[in-house]
Amino acid sequence: MIDFSKFNSLFSIASYFSTDDVCKQTIIERRWGKDESQDVVCPYCGKHHCKMSKSGRFHCTACNKNFSCTVGTIFENTKITLRKWFMAMYLISSHKKGISSHQLARDIEVTQKTAWYMLQKVRSLFAQDDSTALEGEVEWDEVYIGGKEKWKHQSMRTPNTQGRSTKTKTPVFGMMERTEFVNENGETEFMSNVRAMVVEKTDRSTLEPIISQFIEEGSIVFTDELNAYNHLAEMGYVHKICNHGALQFVCDDDGSVYTNNIEGFWSHFRRMISGCYHDVSDEHLQQYIDEACFRWNTRKMSESERFTDMFNTSIGLVKPNKEFKLCIAA
Ligand SMILES: [Zn+2]
Repeated sequence: MIDFSKFNSLFSIASYFSTDDVCKQTIIERRWGKDESQDVVCPYCGKHHCKMSKSGRFHCTACNKNFSCTVGTIFENTKITLRKWFMAMYLISSHKKGISSHQLARDIEVTQKTAWYMLQKVRSLFAQDDSTALEGEVEWDEVYIGGKEKWKHQSMRTPNTQGRSTKTKTPVFGMMERTEFVNENGETEFMSNVRAMVVEKTDRSTLEPIISQFIEEGSIVFTDELNAYNHLAEMGYVHKICNHGALQFVCDDDGSVYTNNIEGFWSHFRRMISGCYHDVSDEHLQQYIDEACFRWNTRKMSESERFTDMFNTSIGLVKPNKEFKLCIAA
């Protein structure tokens, strides 16, 4: 099997993936194994052990269909060389604050329009996995994201809004699990995993179903006084409130009651938007949130681990979720 741990720089990616054939071989090996262990499964009828035809495509004797190794991946039917796709995935995953389509276009020598399309496809790999829940100690908080009215042209402004009106902003709800991991030196480090989403409102009836879906019962939840809910104990949580209004930022004897981690994520998210993408429409906001969550949750990984993670998702090894399926169908 190809050792992905060597892919820790753009140079190593460009050197190893020197032709599209090498890229295809890598996809085949990661999807279906190598040599005797290889088992190519037909994506249409599920028959095992499909054989490669002379053209380099696979043929299924059960349903008589031909398919390529990129079927069902973000690279399906692409006209762009796989070498550029792999480099793009590396660049997009390794730029901590995101990369613009103009920059990506220059780096891999494609048009800005193509780079924008590639960014959208790669971003679909960042979609959050809905099947897992956070547990233990969890902080949560909401923010309002939106265009600043004063920068807009007169004709684009929303009537009767000044400054911080929520009429022109979209609420985003974020939850963050405090956890830890063991680094390469065998030391235990603090770590946090975030999950965030656009919500319609920040009222109880909107947020409670989200909370019960994504936070395990029995968890200890930390909020500020603004989003204090009175029914969390009934829902099976231990609720601790940090009173920012009273300038209490760490509000407990043992120092554990605070929401600083999730607030750190929001400032990271805002920097990503203002520094790289300037302003985002509501239509694409969830995608940018997904991207920010991916960057946050993988920030302690090495470059090669992050690339491996993206590569596996791109070829469908990691359980694809709704957004990913939509992207394949598009
Ligand atoms: Zn078949």
